[in-house]
Amino acid sequence: MRNQHVLVVEDETAVRDMIRFAVDRAGFEVEVVGNGEEARLAVADRRPGLVLLDWMLPDVSGLELAREWRRTDATAELPIIMVTARTESDDRVRGLDLGADDYITKPFSSAELVARVRAVLRRTLPGGENAILESESLALDAACQRVAAGEQAVNLGPTEFRLLQFFMGHPERVYTRAQLLDQVWGQNVFVEERTVDVHIRRLRQALSPVACDQVIQTVRGSGYRFSDRAA
Ligand code: CA
Repeated sequence: MRNQHVLVVEDETAVRDMIRFAVDRAGFEVEVVGNGEEARLAVADRRPGLVLLDWMLPDVSGLELAREWRRTDATAELPIIMVTARTESDDRVRGLDLGADDYITKPFSSAELVARVRAVLRRTLPGGENAILESESLALDAACQRVAAGEQAVNLGPTEFRLLQFFMGHPERVYTRAQLLDQVWGQNVFVEERTVDVHIRRLRQALSPVACDQVIQTVRGSGYRFSDRAA
């Protein structure tokens, strides 16, 4: 059974309320605390399915807390998303190195937040890679190699399938063509970047009969992003 209990550790009232509203509306059970000490107690009391952890807390840093949880057997596998106001990439990397499963930078939209929570919960589920990936309108079953939009099946070639699988596991984030080549084709495969465009076009064509082609977005000057938000 998936643990749908999300613990939010955040001291800023406005951000806290926004997160609480978004996560609650997405169907999760939300618990909110405002500092590190309360967070320790809350996790010891009842292990959450996921923690949304603010980087800067009044009593202890989010990094310190994440480190503590990672060192403790009972919480070593606790899924953690770091919430940070910082934009320095080395700080983000530090957060991930310490074992945060993902990070999100303020300001963020509730759609982005919820998409990340769902993605981390999926990736950290037992059975991880073979789990079913779901977005607002699409479901991808890796074990059965099937994609569906509601009742309608989507027919994809093997490369388009892997591309969609990667995108659905990492929603709302922009990837360059080079990054997609590394992630989907593999680092030892020598293909030109425009190959990505060819497969993106095929993927959109395959998604078009179920009216989902717009989930693969072109980000000018950067690359592509998967975003499946209810209108
Ligand atoms: Ca803070």
